[in-house]
Amino acid sequence: MKIRKLIIVQILILISFQLCYTQTIKTDERNIEITYIANEGFLINVGDKSILIDAIFGDKEYGFCDIPDSIQISSMIEAREPYTNIDLIAVTHNHIDHFYAPFVSDHLANNMKGKFISCEQTIEKLAKTDSYEEIKARLIEITPDSLMYQDTVINGIDIKVFRLKHGPYYVENPETGEKINKHQNIQNLGFLFNINGVKIFHGGDSSPSCISDYENFRLDNENIDIAFLGRGFMWTTDCKGIEILRNYINPKHIILMHIHPDNNKRFIDVAEKMKTEFPNVTVFKKSMETKSYIIQ
Ligand SMILES: [Zn+2]
Repeated sequence: MKIRKLIIVQILILISFQLCYTQTIKTDERNIEITYIANEGFLINVGDKSILIDAIFGDKEYGFCDIPDSIQISSMIEAREPYTNIDLIAVTHNHIDHFYAPFVSDHLANNMKGKFISCEQTIEKLAKTDSYEEIKARLIEITPDSLMYQDTVINGIDIKVFRLKHGPYYVENPETGEKINKHQNIQNLGFLFNINGVKIFHGGDSSPSCISDYENFRLDNENIDIAFLGRGFMWTTDCKGIEILRNYINPKHIILMHIHPDNNKRFIDVAEKMKTEFPNVTVFKKSMETKSYIIQ
């Protein structure tokens, strides 16, 4: 009789453990929280993993984009709430509206578990900062050649690193009148993070002009849950970006970025007109706004 009771108690304990375990997976690991910081900078939380991407910048006002406010900048530098537990600091490229080396270096010095991933050009900038010796073991440089990608795992986060061209910006040579793409030599990366099966893509300053990258990588085969893409991908309802979204990316959710909050109405309008085909588009309205996603 005693043994039977003991077996029943053991079975009950096993069942309740199983229930708790299943509950944890459902409520934690598939829940995503995205917080908009500025420009293309976001804090991404999935389960117990935290990624800060293109967010640590803003040494001065640049005029052409929004920057993090002074409270966020000091919180990021000092690794204070909500930046106390960042596993991965990712930077797509070395432009002032995505990355400011002294701030990133200070953050890493104050966040000993955080690892940094980016291309050669940003690591070269970090090598000139005061804390370089202290942080260098946690800097991971991956710069694939054009049309190539590389896989890696950092602090338990699976990452596919794509080389994506930076969107062109043409300036005229005053002497010859020749048009030159000012950004042609900028190394720009796209990241596909896979956290417990949740797939999140950030393309940095890739633009619809870089269609050959998307024809090559066929991100539509990756089953992307959330794609962060520059505003050019939804510039109008019939632009080349829409064609790329439809044919080569096909994400479940889209977050449009590189949009000044004072200037977001036209992109909200385009998203509204496209909602039958793309029902899940977000244009964040203000810094530190957070959106939660539950991925099925
Ligand atoms: Zn850029």
